[in-house]
Amino acid sequence: MSGRWIEVADGVHARRYAELDLTVGLVVGAERCLVVDTRGDLEQGAELAAAVRELTSLPWSVVFTHAHFDHTWGTERFTPCAVWAHEGCRAELTEYAEDARANWIAYYREQGKAETADAIARTTFVVPDHLFTDRTELDLGGRAAVLLHPGRAHTDHDVVVHVPDAGVLFAGDIVENAEHGFSAFSFSSESDLTAWPDTLDTLLALEPRVIVPGHGEPVDADFVRYHRHGLHELIALKAGVGRGETTEAAAVAASRYPGDVTLAALKTP
Ligand SMILES: [Zn+2]
Repeated sequence: MSGRWIEVADGVHARRYAELDLTVGLVVGAERCLVVDTRGDLEQGAELAAAVRELTSLPWSVVFTHAHFDHTWGTERFTPCAVWAHEGCRAELTEYAEDARANWIAYYREQGKAETADAIARTTFVVPDHLFTDRTELDLGGRAAVLLHPGRAHTDHDVVVHVPDAGVLFAGDIVENAEHGFSAFSFSSESDLTAWPDTLDTLLALEPRVIVPGHGEPVDADFVRYHRHGLHELIALKAGVGRGETTEAAAVAASRYPGDVTLAALKTP
């Protein structure tokens, strides 16, 4: 169940997990470090905290790419520390976390993963206390980490972490590297399919050398461009279904993505 570090640039690390194919991050400066997402429950977060301590003993702060449980519920072990997020993330965690907890406990019990369900039940949610709306910059000591809300996409409060001197961008779930790129989890009632390609353009304009997705292995800009085209196709298919010019089944057949992914995209608001 433990993870695997990938050093994507000097002092910039991605950590990969089999569970949910999750990817979190660590940016190490000369004086401080920044943990990008904390996994999904108190035990997973404790594992991550110990793994960070194998790489650095510097004081840490945390940033959430978005409110979803697998990115935020492992924070307990990291506090007290600054926890950064978009202001919309705080509202999401405050208003919906208890409902989401019940749903995920039920999900993991159904999957026969009682230990994960129990860990989620025992988890204390940490609400972010350092909020911003568009952009803020953290000084890690000789290295900046830029926190940016590049626009609506996977949620209305997505945050990416740009490390300009390393050419690395942590993209959260705006970019996913599942088997076919996006997964059925990429698109939900919180997603904005229409805005998503422009949001990817904002990321590409940063000219990152490495993009670390919220799920899957790190990717490059060409991968992001390919799925930007894919999003335009999904937007056109959704519009065609909306106008009654085509059926969902025909849209699924025409899509570059698997049926479950395409259907999830068609169901976005
Ligand atoms: Zn998510």
